[in-house]
Amino acid sequence: MPAHVVVRDLRKSYAGVEAVRGVSFSIEAGEIFGLLGPNGAGKTTTVECLIGLREPDAGDLEVCGFDARRQPHEVKERIGVALQSTSLQDKITPREALRLFGAFYRERVPPGELLERFALTEKADARFETLSGGQRQRLAIALAFVNRPKLVLLDEPTTGLDPQSRRELHAAIARMKHDGYTVLFTTHYLDEAEHLCDRVAIIDRGRIVGQGAPRELIAQSKGRQSVTLVTSRPVELAALAALPGAVEVSATDATGTAFQFQTGDANVTVAALMRLLNDARVPLVDLQVRQASLEDVFLRLTSRPGEVAA
Ligand code: ATP
Repeated sequence: MPAHVVVRDLRKSYAGVEAVRGVSFSIEAGEIFGLLGPNGAGKTTTVECLIGLREPDAGDLEVCGFDARRQPHEVKERIGVALQSTSLQDKITPREALRLFGAFYRERVPPGELLERFALTEKADARFETLSGGQRQRLAIALAFVNRPKLVLLDEPTTGLDPQSRRELHAAIARMKHDGYTVLFTTHYLDEAEHLCDRVAIIDRGRIVGQGAPRELIAQSKGRQSVTLVTSRPVELAALAALPGAVEVSATDATGTAFQFQTGDANVTVAALMRLLNDARVPLVDLQVRQASLEDVFLRLTSRPGEVAA
């Protein structure tokens, strides 16, 4: 299957800030692809270069067989985009907005079809200012579909949504795959990336630090278990790092009472941890041991030594 998106050695700086430093990845037709990374990693810049909102300093960008830098109009006809914040006039209704956006394209989907697809039929004629956060987000995504795109780009589509609205959007994204769309989305939620994406690229400080199917990336942590720990009094990070078998020890907040780490032998590491806490008379509040997840892979690839994990 031909790749729908090819990004080769993309570079972009803003006044001395190297936001994207040689990013390369490709997305096959029909895939759901996740671009993951901490705040400021370069995800939005990468998406904005792909859709022609920013001029890259260097690199090749191919979308649906077109050179995105030389043929931006061909690309725009074939993609749908929902950026992080979509602001519409307060008085416009979802039906009007869909009709208005559709007018910019040769190929367009009837508003009624999109209202139904994104569960907005009841709110079709309600003013934008009266819509809930979840309804606004669904409208933003519906607007990305007005031109029957081949590729849909969603920049943090679930940020700020309540769990119910997030779940509805997950279902909508899964349906996009079922209907044959190619989807690129950025997210901070590793659990949704693990469940929804065929493949992900993890980007950190403008570079790709890991790429592949979530289960392949997780398999690279094979044999490892992840331990999260909460105590009622602070513990020295160095003391935890010295536990037998403990690796990638990091604090999960700034209080010195919440940590996570990985181990290849949870029995040995946890037994030593209990001795450490008992000897220091530090009460344990919570201790969990589980198989490594995509979140652990993400933290391993993106956290800096001595830094508090986000
Ligand atoms: P987030 O998850 O917080 O949205 P991101 O991964 O999307 O972050 P970008 O928004 O691409 O990251 O930002 C990458 C870097 O470029 C950051 O250091 C950011 O401060 C910087 N940056 C982004 N846009 C601009 C701009 N218009 N002018 C100057 N610097 C910018």
